[in-house]
Amino acid sequence: AIPLVVAVSTSLAAKYGLLIRDRQAFERAKDLQAVVFDKTGTLTKGEFGVTDIIPLADIEENKIMEIAASLEANSEHPIAEGIVNSAKKMGVEITNVEDFRAIPGRGIEGTINNAKYKVVSPGYLKELGVEVDNEEVEKVKQQGKTVVFLVEGSKPVAAIALADIIREESKEAIKKLREMGLRCMMLTGDNRFVAKWVAEEIGLDEYFAEVLPHEKADKIKEVQERYTVAMVGDGVNDAPALAQADVGIAIGAGTDVAVETADIILVKNDPRDVVDVIKLSRKTYSKMF
Ligand code: ADP
Ligand code: MG
Repeated sequence: AIPLVVAVSTSLAAKYGLLIRDRQAFERAKDLQAVVFDKTGTLTKGEFGVTDIIPLADIEENKIMEIAASLEANSEHPIAEGIVNSAKKMGVEITNVEDFRAIPGRGIEGTINNAKYKVVSPGYLKELGVEVDNEEVEKVKQQGKTVVFLVEGSKPVAAIALADIIREESKEAIKKLREMGLRCMMLTGDNRFVAKWVAEEIGLDEYFAEVLPHEKADKIKEVQERYTVAMVGDGVNDAPALAQADVGIAIGAGTDVAVETADIILVKNDPRDVVDVIKLSRKTYSKMF
């Protein structure tokens, strides 16, 4: 039988917009010492807009956006949506792409008119052994923008800079969690300058940048050597990390993966609800004894 207090508090949880899938994880929430947040779509809105288009070869801005947006029209990543929306505003036409493939946490690739293209992260470009030495690219990175490269064959032909918006609710959530004695951290696949900027803006204790999807769960394991930890994410590239954490919390009207992997789902899409999860768990399970 379900103890009465728990039954009451799960209906209370529903009222707060918390969907509890794993009751034991909900109980563990009272002992949490650290919360690790995913960046894109969790602490930030995940609504990117293109801010700078930087040609690295003899290619026009419209052409850059035409190729990039045509490729990204096949991807569901928030960056993809940002590039497609900005391209549409520029009046750029979307063309047909063959052999489309997503490279998780790194970018995408495909063929247009027999030419092979990629749109990828700075980190992946480095993995491919390609260095870009461009002052303007460094400048936008320093500004805390997300940068992706359009690559033709193996040659980077342009950099596209994008900016996301930090959720106001994130700052409040972090402040409250820290007051409750929890360490707040961020895990992201994005570049370290963006990570640093967001971390400072929000007031995080620690952050991990340029972490590939398959490394995200390992990072959580490392943090677990120090703390009992919750992971909060939207499921885009972070489902294994949600599963690894002592408490996995999915945010966002969310991807199906997140909903299937997480112990607790924040229905309202608000990072402040993490505070309620922990408070409610503490209240519920201290009453029991
Ligand atoms: P986060 O951890 O911030 O949610 P991801 O792990 O989803 O980020 O992605 C990490 C990086 O991989 C992005 O910052 C970007 O550089 C690159 N990337 C992922 N998907 C795409 C895409 N569709 N187009 C271009 N770049 C992408
Ligand atoms: Mg993400």
